[in-house]
Amino acid sequence: MDKNRNAGAIKKSEIKIRPKIDLHRHLDGDVKTEVLFNLARKNKIHLPAKNSRELAEYFKNLKNAGLANLFREGFGLVTSLMQTPENLEITAYEEVRNLNKDNIIYAEIQFAPQYHTGESVYYNHGEGGQKNSYEEIIKSVWRGLKHGEHDFGVKTNLIIDIGREAAPEIGVEVAKAAIKCAQYNVVALGLATDEANFPPERHRQAFQLTFGTELKRSVHAGEFGSQLHKNIITSINELKADRLGHARIVSQYEDLLQKIKEKNIGIESCPESNIFTDLIKSRHEIGIKRLFEEGALVSINSDDPAMFGYTLTDTIYRLCKEETWIDMEGIRKLQINAAMSSFLKQDEKEALVRLINKGYDTN
Ligand SMILES: [Zn+2]
Repeated sequence: MDKNRNAGAIKKSEIKIRPKIDLHRHLDGDVKTEVLFNLARKNKIHLPAKNSRELAEYFKNLKNAGLANLFREGFGLVTSLMQTPENLEITAYEEVRNLNKDNIIYAEIQFAPQYHTGESVYYNHGEGGQKNSYEEIIKSVWRGLKHGEHDFGVKTNLIIDIGREAAPEIGVEVAKAAIKCAQYNVVALGLATDEANFPPERHRQAFQLTFGTELKRSVHAGEFGSQLHKNIITSINELKADRLGHARIVSQYEDLLQKIKEKNIGIESCPESNIFTDLIKSRHEIGIKRLFEEGALVSINSDDPAMFGYTLTDTIYRLCKEETWIDMEGIRKLQINAAMSSFLKQDEKEALVRLINKGYDTN
């Protein structure tokens, strides 16, 4: 096999067997329906489906009824099954199984503890008081990931998100817990969910708490809404983002390109997610080629693979089908970009780069 041949001819199986990195992957966006079904049965929770196949159908119908429905009911249902330390541990463990199945050798998994406090069914927070502390929640997920690492040999770290609709005081509490949990593989504070209605400055104070600590910062910005450029600038200037989630418009603006290059900010591109959520019509719109040519640290990531019904391999494969200039060497470089913009320590990054190179050199 010629590793430099055009990607239009690269088979999906060839991408699948290569080592890959996922830097933008939500824990609650990657729980397989079989796992959800088992958790529901164990906890005697009634699901709107008789088996995992029907459950998959349920999610598909939600999407057909509009994205808002999918987000509210879909993620609401998934997180309602992730309300105890035991279930959080199980879903984290299963996440590592999913990573291994797709030959992902390193991932930074993100989730927002505020959705897992034990009081929530379908996002009805604030009733009945918080049962699980943010620290307990983080530790439960960490235990599951460690157990998974032991069994499947896939290394992971955690990004602790603030679901941005939360009050700023909640954001501050999440940030404090994330900082306290650095020993549990927490490498960054993240900001996720609805950017259109809750701009990044809402959680400025929470992010400021991480300045000068060992935690890095990853902010969803430039994904949803009409203020994409402004949100990216605020995330960089005020939240001091080390990486941007999505940031799908950077290639269109000279000032953004210069800024991310100057500050060495990683772009966690999620093309398949943007297509799924109808934010872009074509993957070309992200301008991966321009980002590449400019030497930007762009990586390709999955976002919510089980929920949206694809894998990281699918994401890369479908991108290559459209961006036919990406050959196997291009895929390797995208993985190296991911390693270099990961939140690993320098020596760990170098070890990861060696593993990637090894995986792409063997033909
Ligand atoms: Zn995301």
